[in-house]
Amino acid sequence: MAAIILDGTKIAGQIRAEVAEEVRALAAAGMRPGLAVVLVGHNPASEVYVRGKVKACEEVGIYSEKHTPSEHCTTAELLELVARLNQRDEIDGILVQLPLPPQVDAKKVLLAVDPAKDVDGFHPMNVGLLSTQRPGLVPCTPAGILEILKRSNIAIAGQEAVVVGRSDIVGKPVAMLLINGNATVTVCHSKTRDLPGVCRRADILIAAIGRAGMVTREFVKPGATVIDVGMNQVTDRAEFDRLFAGNAKREETFRTKGSTLVGDVHPEVAQVAGAITPVPGGVGPLTIAMLMANTVRAAKLRRGSGDLAKV
Ligand code: NAP
Repeated sequence: MAAIILDGTKIAGQIRAEVAEEVRALAAAGMRPGLAVVLVGHNPASEVYVRGKVKACEEVGIYSEKHTPSEHCTTAELLELVARLNQRDEIDGILVQLPLPPQVDAKKVLLAVDPAKDVDGFHPMNVGLLSTQRPGLVPCTPAGILEILKRSNIAIAGQEAVVVGRSDIVGKPVAMLLINGNATVTVCHSKTRDLPGVCRRADILIAAIGRAGMVTREFVKPGATVIDVGMNQVTDRAEFDRLFAGNAKREETFRTKGSTLVGDVHPEVAQVAGAITPVPGGVGPLTIAMLMANTVRAAKLRRGSGDLAKV
């Protein structure tokens, strides 16, 4: 039987509507959450992401401002900008769009963001709060994955979860969220032995690898829930045929655009899995929705208590 498709666009829409409602309630109480986005230089992909984030803010009623230092800026200049944003009370969230140019010490800049305004959840303070199950700011994509599972009524407690990928942005924090949700979690990476065999143990399989269609049907226990985080552009004809042979709609996209977006999970997995997120339209839309939710959360935590760690 074909898998249930977990509609990320629909779930993200629900979250955005809830956030908009919260923003209205806060506004009535005299508080408007604010997000500052720092976009350095002219990376085309980053420009697209930042446009999406600013537009999402407008839609839910969050105040936003964009800072665009030149691609030649120094670490010291960025530290100064972050320090100014840290001090401004009307700014609740600070997002430094990555990647930063090579001359900038990105780790130093991210560490300078006030943890209470760290809406990406990358600051070691927030990483520590998550791993010790204290209230903090959780990275957006992993938080979005948990929303998909919860809002689709997929049980987490007691389930075997396997996460492929151990990045600080996706793999590690999603593993931590699943542990906190009482799943039994295995984290895999490029040195894992018998990856298909380990993945086949999973009731919930999370693929955050960055390799087009790597997870094939032999990785998946029949009926498992599969969350595909990958976003890969396929431009090679042979690779396209391996993934989408016979798919007329994809064929049309590939012919007109010369590429198509694919996750880390091969489309054939939809015939084995119990539930699966599509690409596009699965995890992707949740990332911006959770950024909006995090900004409102940061406003409430910070302006309510003054100190994230003590909430
Ligand atoms: P990353 O930092 O490159 O990490 C990839 C992970 O996959 C690493 O832990 C790596 O293992 C592991 N890996 C690579 N090849 C492997 C293999 N052959 N077998 C087993 N494990 C392997 O990537 P990321 O930032 O986590 O992103 C992962 C994917 O998610 C990318 O496609 C990215 O575009 C996408 N993404 C999507 C969203 C969204 O909003 N939908 C957000 C963030 C990322 P090692 O640690 O051993 O190298």
